[in-house]
Order: sequence, then structure tokens, then C-alpha cells
Amino acid sequence: MDTIDQLLENNRAFADGLAERHLSVEPSRQLAVVTCMDSRLDVFAALGLGDGEAHVLRNAGGVITDDMIRSLAISQRRLGTRDVMLIHHTDCGMQKLTDDGFRTELLETTGVAPAFAIESFKDIEENVRQSIRRVRTSPFIPHRDNVRGFVYDVDTHRLREIEVDE
Ligand SMILES: [Zn+2]
Repeated sequence: MDTIDQLLENNRAFADGLAERHLSVEPSRQLAVVTCMDSRLDVFAALGLGDGEAHVLRNAGGVITDDMIRSLAISQRRLGTRDVMLIHHTDCGMQKLTDDGFRTELLETTGVAPAFAIESFKDIEENVRQSIRRVRTSPFIPHRDNVRGFVYDVDTHRLREIEVDE
């Protein structure tokens, strides 16, 4: 059985074990979490969040791209969130490549240069600060007074806050 078929079987057991219910589309904690797609970070477990409590937006690196701004704008303007928590993590795959190297690889193997920025990084703390600044300076995001950034240690499971001076 392939992996997706196994997951479909898991879902049947999951749904069988739960009562039917309907939660509001608006997250009850008025929170959006932006983080990496890393498979070792279980956001709901690590933060003690339950279903219906927060938006969790993920991409490679937890980078604030235009599409993350799009999602945050919808999250705040239509779905009632206010606080933004940015979580990067140790041992991130985005630290293992370079923008130029990956862009060249894509171009050479496909014949097409990607229109998107690669957004690799070396300094994780500086990347968290950049992400905080990108959210705090976006005119599309109305609530920017509680935007905080963290590094999650994938080995110890602990969060460490990264401060921005400004
Ligand atoms: Zn990562």
C-alpha cells in the first residue's frame, strides 16, 4: 500500500473516533502562526493549540513571501486574527542551499528561470528579524503591533524569542 493509501486508512479511523462537530472558520485565539514546512515541527502539539484556534501558514523556511502576506491579509481582514507568531527552526533545509546555486540548478535542468525568489538563508536569527520586519512594514496587514519571532530547536523542542531593535 502506498503512503497516501495508508493515510486514507488512518483518516477513516480518525474520523470514526470523533464525534461530528462544527467549529467557526474564525480562529478562536485570533492568532496566525507562520512557520517552515519542516516535518519535525508539530505546531499544534508544540504550542498546545487545538483545532479551530489558529491559522498555521507554512512554506519552505517560514519565509514572508508575497503569498504569505496574501494569507496574512486574508487571515486578519476576513477571519479576525490579530497576533502573528513567526517560527523558524534549527537545522533548516533552507540553510543548506544558496539562492544562486538553486536558481542555476532549476534553470539548467529545466531551461526555465524561476520567477520566484529562492529565499535561502545562513543566519537564522537575522532571517527571523527580516521576517518580523516584512510583516511589520506591510500595508496590507492591519494588525502589526503584536508580531513576534522565535527559533524552535528541533532537538530540544524549545522556543527561543528573537528580538528586533526598533
Ligand atoms: Zn525549515
